[in-house]
Formats: sequence, structure tokens, C-alpha cells
Amino acid sequence: GCRIGISGRSPRADRGVPIALVPVKAVIIGAGMGGASAAIALKQLGLEVEVYEQVTENKPVGAAISVWSNGVRCLNHLGLEEETAALGGIVDSMSYVDAFTGETMCRFSMQPLIDEVGQRPYPIARAELQLMLMNAFGHDDINFGKKMVAVHDGPAQATVEFADGTSASGDIVIGADGAKSLTRDYVLGSPVERRYAGYVNFNGLVPVDERIGPATEWTTYVGDSRRVSVMPVAGNRFYFFFDVPMPEGVPFERGTAREVLAEEFAAWAPGVHTLIGALEPGATNRVEIYDTDPFHTWVRGRVAVLGDAAHNTTPDIGQGGCSAMEDAVALQFAFRDNPDDPHAALAAYEASRTERAADLVLRARKRCDVTHGKEPEKTAAWYEELRHEDGTNVIRGIVGNIVGGPLT
Ligand code: FAD
Repeated sequence: GCRIGISGRSPRADRGVPIALVPVKAVIIGAGMGGASAAIALKQLGLEVEVYEQVTENKPVGAAISVWSNGVRCLNHLGLEEETAALGGIVDSMSYVDAFTGETMCRFSMQPLIDEVGQRPYPIARAELQLMLMNAFGHDDINFGKKMVAVHDGPAQATVEFADGTSASGDIVIGADGAKSLTRDYVLGSPVERRYAGYVNFNGLVPVDERIGPATEWTTYVGDSRRVSVMPVAGNRFYFFFDVPMPEGVPFERGTAREVLAEEFAAWAPGVHTLIGALEPGATNRVEIYDTDPFHTWVRGRVAVLGDAAHNTTPDIGQGGCSAMEDAVALQFAFRDNPDDPHAALAAYEASRTERAADLVLRARKRCDVTHGKEPEKTAAWYEELRHEDGTNVIRGIVGNIVGGPLT
């Protein structure tokens, strides 16, 4: 059931007049995975929610994401259990393959992981995940084409200003405005440096092809501090990605992914070449990977950050989006427990999240370094481990990422 928050600023309360049930009003900036999840979560609780998004239509960058069991739990909690399962790929096993020989280094079932955490993970095409979330909140209730240019706290309300000269105010402002967050700069009082992680990621979708990997397997080719991976999403498609260590700022012309990858991966196994032949160059994304050092101030007065704005991570453990969904559920719990006090609710939200989110950022950074050869001997040792892996160590690592959120 929903509970209605009671606005802490109602002057009627001070005069002893019965308190009217005025819902807390939340202004959310950004309708990505984090902002849309938070909008659903707060609306579910009975808050009045306004969402503002700078883009004019749903055009996510990136092809898909793996929503691990902790993220799936959050989506289930938001009432999206059936929709999520329908969009998710079925991953029954994982394997690592030698980049050059094409030999399987190890292959193991995902079932022990599912049994341990009680929820199957789901890789999902990004555009479909995004649309599911927007529809769950109410697509037509999202204010598109609204670019926030300033945010400030006030004694009774927080206010945002948009590029079109309009503004919006609420009891709280949630900045879910992504890795280059303006809200974050406001909350921290100064801009944050993002750290280049040392590699670029090419990604997209291709039809399932068993010459690349089995249809229900997450297959990863590794060698030479690089990684090529496919995992199933719904609709008989593979989400694929290539990680290529290189300096920041190397020029790239969109549409040339096939030539670039064919050259970079010339010596790799036939499955990788089948994938390069199958990808759609014009629809292949190329992303330079960054993260930010964790910080523990997420709230300034009535203004708070959520999602990548609060914890920009490398994608090496597939937890950035899941962590944003955890933030959304934690924010809901904070308002459930502090219905009439936005300041107390935001403080509770911050207290429940900063350590967990920092842990995921640092775990991802560590995996990133091993995968991409920051210290080559560690990467070589990892390849050797994979040749003797029965799944136990890999699954222990993934379970370690999954456990620790508001629902796990
Ligand atoms: P975003 O998705 O960036 O959304 C922010 C939104 O705010 C955008 O829509 C933007 O237009 C809007 N906005 C920004 N500024 C303004 C403004 N001033 N005014 C109005 N609107 C604004 N995560 C996983 O969980 N699993 C994975 O497998 C995974 N793989 C990844 C692979 C790659 C290559 C990358 C780069 C990331 C991956 N992630 C993954 C991380 C995941 O994509 C992010 O953590 C997630 O998108 C964060 O959601 P968000 O809503 O916080 O930010």
C-alpha cells in the first residue's frame, strides 16, 4: 500500500489546525535508469513526482546492460517482475575462451549463483529497459526537452532552472543527471574530475550465432589484456562488447567499427571474426571508460544525487545501473521511514548508500585493472586461474557484488 508523506513545511501544523495530507513533492532531473527508477519508487509511495529530462526522445547510448540479481530485485520491487523477465536474456552458463586458440578455458553453470542469491540475472537491451521504466512511471508525464542549467537549495523548497528560462521547485530535488552531473557539482561545491580507466568499449547487438558462443551462455574471449564478450538478451540477440586498452582521445569515425576491430583483433579466434562480420558498423557504439573516486556527501539541504551522478563506475562488474536502481529503492525506504521530514529522509538515504556504492566502484576498478593489464603479471595470473576454474571463484566474486543492497 501507498503512504502519503506529510509536508514538513505546512504552516497549518504550527497553529494546531489538523495537518492536511500534502504529499512531499519531488523534482527529479534525468530520466535514465536511475531517475526513472526513483520516479517510480517515490510515486509508488505516494509522493508527488515531476521528472525533467534534457533529451527530446528515448535514445540511450549503449546497446544493453546486464542487470544482476540485485538490480532485478529492485525492478521486481517496483512492480516490474514480469516485464523484466520478458526482456531478459537467459544465461544458463558462463565460459572463458582463449583469445588466440579459441579453446575453452573454463565453462560453468550459473545455477549455483541463482540458488545462492535467489534471483536470476537478466541482460536487457538498454532501449527496452529504458522504455519499460518510462512507461511504468508514465511516459507522457515525463517533461522531455528540459535541460537543467542551475539548481539551488532554499529554506522551504529547492529549485532548478532550465535552459528555456522556466524553473521548477519541490520539497526535494533528486539529481539523477548522470556521470557529468551538474547536481553533483552543486552538492559537493566544486566540480569532480573523472578518471580515464585506460580503455574503450565497443558495443552493440547481433543475432545469436552459435559460432560465436552458445545461445544461453555468457561467453568471454580473453587475451592480450583485452576482452570480447557476448551474452543473450531477449529476441534471439546477443549483446556484444569489445574492450580495447588505448590512450584517451584517439579519434574514431562512427561507422568504421568493423575495420578498426578487424585490425585490432586480427590474430583472434574465428568466433571473434564471425562477430566482427555480423556487427552493424553504424549501430556500434564506442565509449571511452571513466569513473570517479567515491565521495560520501550526496545531499546538500533538499538536493541529493542518485545513480551515476553519485557513483560513476567502470562497467567491469556490470553494477553501475544496478546500483542506481538500489539508490531508487533506498530513497523510497528513506521516505517510508521519514514521511514528514525531507531532511531526515535524505540523510537516511545518504547514510544507507554511500558505503555500498563506493564498494562497487572500487570493486569494478580492481577488476578493470586485472582485465586490462594494468600490471601484466596479474593479468597473466588471472588467465592461468581461468584455466583451472570450476566456477567457484568467479561466482563467489559475483555474489560479493550482488549482496549488500537494500533488498539483498
Ligand atoms: P544516465 O543513464 O546517464 O542518465 C542520466 C540522464 O540525465 C540522461 O538521460 C541525461 O540526458 C539526463 N541529464 C543529464 N544532464 C541533464 C540536465 N542538465 N538536465 C536534464 N537532464 C539531464 N550498468 C549495469 O548495471 N550493468 C551493465 O552491464 C552495465 N554496462 C555498462 C557498459 C558500458 C559501456 C557503460 C558505459 C556503462 C555500463 N553500465 C552498466 C552503467 C550504466 O549504464 C549506468 O550506471 C546507468 O546508465 C546510470 O544511470 P543514471 O540514470 O544514473 O545515468
